Amino acid sequence: MTYDIVIHNGTIVTVNPDFDIIEDGVVCIKDGVIQSVGKGEKGKTLPEAADTINADGGIIMPGLVNTHTHLAMSLFRGVADDLPLMTWLNDHIFPAELKFINPENVRLGALLSCAEMMLSGTTCCCDGYFFEDNTAQAVQEIGMRAILGQGVIDLPAPGVPNPDDNISHAVKYVEKWMGRTPLIQPSIFCHSPYTCSNATLKNAKAVALSLGLMFQIHAAETKWEYEPIESMHHETSIAYLDRIEVLDSKTLLVHAVWLDDDDISLIADSGATIAHNPESNMKLASGTAPVHQLLNAGITVGLGTDSCASNNDLDMFSEMDSMAKLHKVVSLDPAVMDAKTVLKSATIDGARAIGLEKEIGSIEVGKQADIIVINTDQPHLVPMYNPVSHIVYAVKGSDVRDAVIGGKCVVRDRELLTVDVGEIMKKVKGLM
Ligand SMILES: [Zn+2]
Repeated sequence: MTYDIVIHNGTIVTVNPDFDIIEDGVVCIKDGVIQSVGKGEKGKTLPEAADTINADGGIIMPGLVNTHTHLAMSLFRGVADDLPLMTWLNDHIFPAELKFINPENVRLGALLSCAEMMLSGTTCCCDGYFFEDNTAQAVQEIGMRAILGQGVIDLPAPGVPNPDDNISHAVKYVEKWMGRTPLIQPSIFCHSPYTCSNATLKNAKAVALSLGLMFQIHAAETKWEYEPIESMHHETSIAYLDRIEVLDSKTLLVHAVWLDDDDISLIADSGATIAHNPESNMKLASGTAPVHQLLNAGITVGLGTDSCASNNDLDMFSEMDSMAKLHKVVSLDPAVMDAKTVLKSATIDGARAIGLEKEIGSIEVGKQADIIVINTDQPHLVPMYNPVSHIVYAVKGSDVRDAVIGGKCVVRDRELLTVDVGEIMKKVKGLM
C-alpha cells in the first residue's frame, strides 16, 4: 500500500488507553485515517508514502483539542484587561461587539484564531458565538476540525436583533451545516442560565437533542452568578439546569467553577461534561474550578482557553502549564494535578467532552489523523527525560513544527499551508 503520509523518527506520545510512548515511532496515514502506529526498525526502509514527515527526533502527539473558544473575539485581544467579569462584559465587550461584529469581521476573527491555533498545535476546537455561519465558513476555508455553536441569548445580539428569533436562527444555521463537511459539526450554545430564560434553555436543548447536537452553556462561572439564580430559582445554577432537564451526556458545561458537592453529584449522574478554562478564570478572577473533585467523581474535564479577550491567546500548551500549576498552588499539593492528567484533558478527555472521542484525541489505528510534531531540538527542550513532562511544562505553541488534520498536512515547517496568514493579519490590523 502507498500511504498518503508517513510520520517517523520521533517519540510518539499516543495518549491511547495504555498511554503508550513509542520511541523512534512511525505513524502511517491513508484516507484521513491512522492505519498503523509502531516502532521503526533500524535499517528497514520506511513504508511507501506520497509524503514523508521526518520528526527529526521530536515529539509526535495527537493534535490538541480546545474545548471552549469564541473564535471571532480574537479581534478583542487586549481591548480591556484587569477588570471584573461583569464590568469587562457590560462596559467593554458588549459595546465592542455592537461596534465591530458583523459577518465579515466574524469570518476574519475566526480565521485569525484558527491560524493561531493551528500554528500552536490545536487541531480541533469547540466554539460558540454569533454569526456562527461565518465562523463555519472560515473554519472550512482554513481546514480545521470544530464543533461550532450558534449563540443563543435573550438579549438583542449580533445577527439576531430580536431575541424571539434566537432559536429559529440557530436552527437555520444548524440545518445548513449538518453533514455538510466532515470536519465541522454544528451545535447550539446558550450563553448562560442568567441571560437565557427557562423557556429558551428548554427549547434550545430540545432542538439539540432532537438533532443529536452538542449543547454548550457557560455555567457557574462566577460567584456573582450564584445570587441571581439562587434568588430567582432558590437553587444553584447546576441544580436549576438539572431540574429543567438540560444536563445530559451531550451537554458541555463551560467553567463550572462555583459548585457544591450536590452539584458535582448531579453533573456526574447526568453524564454532562466540563470545559475547564484556567487562564480565563484566573484573569477574570472568577475562581478555581474543583477539577480534582470533578475527576474523582468520574466527570470528563476537557481543557479550553476561552476567548482571546479573556486569556489573551489560544496557546493550549501554556493553558496546560497553567492548569497543572493552578491546582497545585490552590490545594498546596504538587501531586494533585499531574502532567499525564493535564495532557489527557487537552487531548482524549477534551475529545470526550465534546463527543468526539471515537474520532480524535489519541494516536490509534482507525482514528482520524489529527497529529502534530514538536521540534524538541531547542535549548528550552534539552535534555528530555520525559516527553509528557516536556509537553505540559516546557513546550510552547511556537515549538509546533507540523500539523496534520484529517490526514491533510496543514502546517509544515511552521508555515500554515491553507491560507495566507500575512493577509489575514493585515486585514485585522486594518480594522483598528
Ligand atoms: Zn466563554
